[in-house]
Parts: sequence; structure tokens; C-alpha cells
Amino acid sequence: MSLRIYNTLTRRIDEFTPGGEKKEQVSQYPPVTIYSCGPTVYGFAHIGNFRTFVFNDFLRRYLKFRGFTVDHAMNITDVDDKTIAGANSEGITLQQYTERYTGIFMEDLSSLNIENVEHTPKATESIDAMIDIIQHLDKKGLIYEKDGSIYFSISKYDRYGLLSNLDTREIRSGARYDADEYEKDDVRDFALWKAPRENEPAWDTPFGKGRPGWHIECSAMVRKIFGTTIDIHTGGVDLIFPHHENEIAQSEAAYGETFVRYWIHIEHLLVEGSKMSKSLGNFYTLRDLFEKGHSPRTIRYLLLSAHYRKQLNFTFDGLTQASQALMRIDNFIARLEEKKKEGEPAPEIAGAIDELFTRFTETVDDDLNITGGMGVLFDFIHSMNLAIDQGEMTTADRNAIMAALKRIDSVFGFIFFEDTSAGEIDSAEIDKLIQERNQARKDKNFARADEIRDMLEEKGIILQDSKEGTRWIKKQ
Ligand code: AMP
Ligand code: ZN
Repeated sequence: MSLRIYNTLTRRIDEFTPGGEKKEQVSQYPPVTIYSCGPTVYGFAHIGNFRTFVFNDFLRRYLKFRGFTVDHAMNITDVDDKTIAGANSEGITLQQYTERYTGIFMEDLSSLNIENVEHTPKATESIDAMIDIIQHLDKKGLIYEKDGSIYFSISKYDRYGLLSNLDTREIRSGARYDADEYEKDDVRDFALWKAPRENEPAWDTPFGKGRPGWHIECSAMVRKIFGTTIDIHTGGVDLIFPHHENEIAQSEAAYGETFVRYWIHIEHLLVEGSKMSKSLGNFYTLRDLFEKGHSPRTIRYLLLSAHYRKQLNFTFDGLTQASQALMRIDNFIARLEEKKKEGEPAPEIAGAIDELFTRFTETVDDDLNITGGMGVLFDFIHSMNLAIDQGEMTTADRNAIMAALKRIDSVFGFIFFEDTSAGEIDSAEIDKLIQERNQARKDKNFARADEIRDMLEEKGIILQDSKEGTRWIKKQ
């Protein structure tokens, strides 16, 4: 079977054929071009935003796991009303302001083990491509000027609305439009270029001074990096309308070609039933959760633990469950480490590993069913735990299982997780304390033994005693 993805534009689960042409082998496809709408850098991103960014990361990792090459861009929106207002209120330049939040955002991405993408273009560095789009639209008579701003005239573009499938009357009601753009001809029209205003940055263009509208930024960055057509465009569901609808209108009207082959939209993270958003004030940043003692690894796991087309309700109970699930994985790995028996690899273990990969691929190929893929992993761990219970595993089996877990983790990114947060204690120090505790127990100095256990627990290390000795795992 092949990879199938739900496409918001066709409203179907379509077979995935990058480049637009079906090939016999995955290796024959051209690199998959992906564009993900990135953050507006005016503050700390919240974990709702990170649900979308973690999903983007999962998507690129899975494509690579399936043998595709990826060429992925995520933009930085570094000029809009909010960034300009933020810079003005602090009395610093727009660049100083947006660079600060871009740096924080990049740190957050790496703490969640999100891979670097191939391109991170900034809107302010893509003005030339915006001018080119507007000039193309001008030649086709699709724009007009009003009070120094340039608008896209939707009534002249009959394909408008195909992505969001919105009823024209609903669009006409104006309920979903920027109230401050009342000067335009038709309530549905959107600004491509905004007239200069006092205390706002402005760029010189052939059609006058001003700054870009938000929608044109993404169309321009796609064009500049990839050309006319890309394979995948991603973003949260809130971007379907009007942002992505407007991107399609500008790009397809300007260049007359398909803009995007597959539109993928990620459902929202909710907090107690409402969308997590800055405007509702019900949001947590990553740092809020770190301060409450939750690890980036647990947060990554939680954010991945629902199908991307289903809403995910954030709760602290959910974080606890995520940390328990990770502990099950860690316990399994710790048990594997204990098995040192030499010998031939068992055919049953090799068979179970083959089945792990077959079922994992079949499951995730079906519209990126990551939750199903996690289920497959836990089934595997369950059956391997039984195999350990039933007899000693050889080092050859152990090595094969570890290699399989590493390969599966090239997609999940939460099994072997480098936690770079402060306060880490190194394993040599832990082993020394375990020896000291064992000695204290032999000497019947239980007070000292308990003291060592508690001290380690405070540092996030849990000791587990068994017949075979004492082992430790990290608390999540
Ligand atoms: P923004 O910085 O607001 O432009 O958002 C960055 C990305 O996060 C966009 O793709 C949004 O659609 C997405 N996003 C915003 N809020 C949420 C949420 N509560 N859950 C999931 N994704 C979100
Ligand atoms: Zn965008």
C-alpha cells in the first residue's frame, strides 16, 4: 500500500504522489516540497501552536522514514500589526523585537526535539517576491488601489472559496472580515499591500510605499523558495479561511498554475473545551509547563497523542498519563539492558520486529494515523516484555530490538530523548549513590538508604529494586 493523506481541498483521503505523477517506487519521486505557516513572532508561542509544529515535524520525519526526501520551509512572520505594536510599545526597532522572539521560538522547537527544516524565510526578506505577485495580478486587472492600499478583487476571481467551501453569502455578510479595512470596495477583498502609516515600517515599491498584507507573505515565500507549485502546505485549521484561501487566490491568479497539491490542516488544542489562544487568555507556554515540573519529552508525547484531524483537549491528567506511557517504554528498555546472555537471535523476535514495521507502516500510511502507530509500538513492547518473562533474551535479540526502536523513534522522537534542561544528574553519580545505598541497606542503616532514594527522586530519578538488583529510570 502507499501513503494516503486527507486533502482539505478535495475533502478526500488521496494517494500521496509528490510532483503530481505516480511512480512505481518511492525513491523515484522528486523531493517533497512542504511549506508550513510559521509563527508570528510577537511573544512566546503557546502549546496550541506547538501541537501544529510538532505535527509538522512528525509529518517530515514520517516522509523520510518512508524513503522520501523532504525540502521543507517554515516561515517567520516578522511584520504585521502585532509585531509592529510590540516593537513600538518597547521603543525598539521591529527587527530587534522580532529577532528576540524568533530566537526564543527556535529554542522552544529544539527543546521539543523538533528537527531543523531546510528553510526558515522571513517575511521582511521576501518583499521582492511580493512585488512580483502584485505586478502579475495588476497585469491581469485583479487589483485596485484605495487610499494608498492595494486590494485583491475577489469578484473578478471565480475560483475563490474552493478550499474553505464557504457559501458566498456567508463571506458577503462580512462577519469574518477585518473590521478595520472598511475602505475597500467589497467586504470580501483583502489587502495585498497596506498604505504607510505613522510609526510603521514601510518599503518602497513600484506601486508606492507601504507594508505587506499578511496573506501575501506566505505566497511570496513559497514562490521564492520553491517556484509555482508545492506538494504540501500545512497550518492549523484556523488558517483555512481566510489565510489559505487568500494564498491560493493570489498565487493561482498571478501565475495560472496549481499552487498546492495537498492541503493539510491540524485541529486545535483545546483547554477545557475552548481553543487555546492568546486572545482568550487560556494558554500555557512551554516554559509555564517546565516551571510546573513537566518535561519537554512528556509534552512532545502528549501533543502527538491524538490524530491530527481530531481536537486534543489539554489537561494535566493527560500529561500524567503521557509520563506513565513514557515510563512503560523506559522500563522496557531498562529490562532489555539487563539481559546479557550470549546466543543466537531468536526467529520469533526477528518475526515480531518485522511485524512491528509492517503494522506501523500500514497504520501510519492511512492518513498519518500516529495514534494507531503508537498503539502498534505498545503492542510490540507488551509482547517483548512477555518474551523477556518467559526466558532470557540474548544480546543479539536485544541489539535487534534496540535498533528497531531507534528506527521507529526516527518518526516519534520521544523514545530516546535528549533532555537538555538544567539540573541533570549524570549516570556515574547515580550509580555511585546506588552502591552507597546498597551498602547502607546491608549495614541496616535504613535511614541513610531512604535518604539517598529521596534525594534521587527529588532530582527526577526513580529507583526500582528487584531480584536482579537496583535499576533507575527518569521520572517524566
Ligand atoms: P500564529 O503564530 O498565531 O500565526 O500560529 C502559528 C500556528 O499555530 C498556525 O499554524 C496556527 O494555525 C496554529 N495554532 C494556533 N492556535 C492553535 C491551537 N490552539 N491548536 C493548534 N494549532 C494552533
Ligand atoms: Zn501562512
